[in-house]
Amino acid sequence: MIDIRGQFIAGKPATGEDATEAVYNPATGNEIARIASASRAQVDAAVAAAERAFAVWSRMPPKERARCMLRIADRIEALTDEFAELEMLNCGKPIGTARAVDVGNTIDVFRFFAGAARTVPGIPAGEYRPGHTSMLRRDPLGVCVGIAPWNYPLMMAAWKIAPAIAAGNTVVLKPSEHTPLTALKLAEVCAEFLPDGVVNVVTGNGASVGARLVAHPRVRMVSLTGDVATGRKILEAVAPTIKRTHFELGGKAPVIVLADADIPAAVEAIAEGGYYNAGQDCTAACRVYAHTSIYERLVADLQATVEKITLGDPAKPGTALGPLITARQRDRVDGFVARAAADTQAEIVTGGFSPDLPGFFYAPTLIAGARHSDEIVQKEVFGPVVSLTRFDTDDQALQWANDCEYGLASSVWTRDVGKASAFASRLEYGVTWINTHSVNVTEMPHGGVKGSGYGSDLSIYCLEHYMVTRHVMIKH
Ligand code: NAD
Repeated sequence: MIDIRGQFIAGKPATGEDATEAVYNPATGNEIARIASASRAQVDAAVAAAERAFAVWSRMPPKERARCMLRIADRIEALTDEFAELEMLNCGKPIGTARAVDVGNTIDVFRFFAGAARTVPGIPAGEYRPGHTSMLRRDPLGVCVGIAPWNYPLMMAAWKIAPAIAAGNTVVLKPSEHTPLTALKLAEVCAEFLPDGVVNVVTGNGASVGARLVAHPRVRMVSLTGDVATGRKILEAVAPTIKRTHFELGGKAPVIVLADADIPAAVEAIAEGGYYNAGQDCTAACRVYAHTSIYERLVADLQATVEKITLGDPAKPGTALGPLITARQRDRVDGFVARAAADTQAEIVTGGFSPDLPGFFYAPTLIAGARHSDEIVQKEVFGPVVSLTRFDTDDQALQWANDCEYGLASSVWTRDVGKASAFASRLEYGVTWINTHSVNVTEMPHGGVKGSGYGSDLSIYCLEHYMVTRHVMIKH
């Protein structure tokens, strides 16, 4: 069992004073920690600590804030193995990807926002009315709350903390009750280089700790990565106190494979992007629309590739697919697959079962012959499941791709640059990849439209969400 105190408030670890949450290793199903949740008084103490720290941190010049953040990045880098092992233990992520992607991206995000803090652009000061000089200020908001999901616990903590503190805000982060370990370790590292209270972490479930935090009257902004239903609840909870919100909600990425596509490249990307992180990814390449002329070949080639994906012990170097986060999530995924098999014309080409292993594994699953209106095509499964739907015309593919409650990520596969550009201009998604899928860079925004939310993580545009733009005018 991991011995951990569970809360990090005002620069110090603290033991929670409320109900206890068990934390599991999803690769074995064994309990690895028991964490007492933050009480109402501890939530209040975390917000108060963040508010006190704001008075100091927001006045520090960007150069000084950047220096602290670069040190944090260096320290995380030095602790790469510890962070990766903890993330593997708590999420079942294959160790190689935990190290390269989860920890690697976290380091990069702190370094990017350290630099970005010093280069915020804006309209020049000047005389926009005769006899008056106008100037623009970009000021921090105050205490920002970050609410993170379980699929990328460390990365999501970094995506919430780094832009907020770069802009001069202070933070209270609530990680998912299933995956609090790396966020707590990140808080410890932050505390080595930041004034007390700039980064606080409180843990516990959404309905109690999360709800108290987002409704807190001293909080100025809530940034959530999570489910659409959670976004709705938070909007209701913040209405009485009018807070800024920033939402990264779910996704159901369409992958449109046109008749002239490079099929081996598409197969490789779908087999990677559809099953990466066991499909628990809001941009997962999970909803394939394939032109009728290449449909059969795509199904056969994908089946052959997906059947080679190695599932199992995340600590073993060759493992590509780890478990799902909880038994409940595995059963939820199995429910989607079972309903697709029983209630529709779709056919399970491969997978569709939980292998006989300890832990919460689900076999990589490919479902062919799905209709656009089927539940498996419409709803976010958040597991290692990819559906294939045949289309006849490009207009039909575009219409189906856009006919979805989500609008986070999409991809188009074609050798025709004109077609690719036409699709990119008409797809209603925060990101459209051409001949690739699920490739993120810190310099570009990551966010959606429609049910996937608004605001974006990463990039200079994200920094703007954590600042208020103010006008100061001087009469000559
Ligand atoms: P979730 O919405 O159940 O939980 C997310 C976080 O919200 C958790 O910390 C949870 O405790 C908290 N929460 C729940 N109810 C709350 C409330 N009433 N008030 C305050 N906080 C509350 O999501 P999850 O199951 O942890 O993660 C999976 C979901 O996240 C999927 O829908 C996925 O698509 C989405 N996601 C989106 C992105 C993106 O960038 N758009 C990235 C990763 C995950």
